[in-house]
Amino acid sequence: MNQHATSAVAATKELVGVYQAGSQHMVGDGFPVRNMIPGAGVDEQLSPFLLLDYMGPEHFPPTDRQLGVGEHPHRGFETVTIMYQGMVAHRDSTGTGGVIGPGDVQWMTAASGIVHEELHEKEFAACGGMLEGVQLWVNLPRAFKMSKPRYQTLVNNEIPTVDLAGGAGQLRIIAGEFRGVSGPAKTFSPVHLYDLRLKAGHQTELTLPEGFNTSVFMLRGQVVINGSQTVKEAELALFGHTGERMVLEAKENATLLVLSGEPIEEPIARYGPFVMNTREELVQAAQDYQAGKMGHLS
Ligand code: MN
Repeated sequence: MNQHATSAVAATKELVGVYQAGSQHMVGDGFPVRNMIPGAGVDEQLSPFLLLDYMGPEHFPPTDRQLGVGEHPHRGFETVTIMYQGMVAHRDSTGTGGVIGPGDVQWMTAASGIVHEELHEKEFAACGGMLEGVQLWVNLPRAFKMSKPRYQTLVNNEIPTVDLAGGAGQLRIIAGEFRGVSGPAKTFSPVHLYDLRLKAGHQTELTLPEGFNTSVFMLRGQVVINGSQTVKEAELALFGHTGERMVLEAKENATLLVLSGEPIEEPIARYGPFVMNTREELVQAAQDYQAGKMGHLS
């Protein structure tokens, strides 16, 4: 190999830890979750990602009622729901809503405040079935925390898919960019979010920016990272800031969520459904919610 080719190889991103779910609990009565961020002990190292709940996979029998979580507020960040199995219906105080199913993503910017409900979709509830998804909370920079709420439904066929070299699998770009292909999500700070499927016995290389907070969450399968460490189902691999390149080798067919974002270097004050910069702003958020300023479901 000539010198030019050698120097073009990016430095490897060091794997600094592999984490298991910190807690397992129900969100409302319809979403059994394993909490990875912040429960696994990974918190501000992953800014702008504030929370990662892995919902299911779990089989629900038919129900008369739509299980889930009723009317509740959010302020100061975005909730991103990525569905793998099952159907979820959403309705909020701005009058928007919709149903998302396998492959779809809902990117809701709560910003100054929203009240919403998240339920098993009616038909899905009536028939029963497997539910599997991820809910991610993405922080907003101070300048956008009190901006107008926004709602993006990113349906499966609008999310571009790149076939990986050598039939290694496929990568769907939800947000950010991969090899010149951009994802549909509009974000307030630089974020790359990929849904990656790797085939057993194959490997792929990803390049993500130096200085971004980067992690890989394994939903299913088993992957060896950078030729050394094995990451299994429901584990989160955290990378260091230096270097750009990672090598993922699937030992079994694997489904992974790749998260990489530019850190938001601002103080975080969080309480339940509100994430602001100061304690005073949290108090204000609670008061505004109580006073009905975040609206109600009609
Ligand atoms: Mn919510």
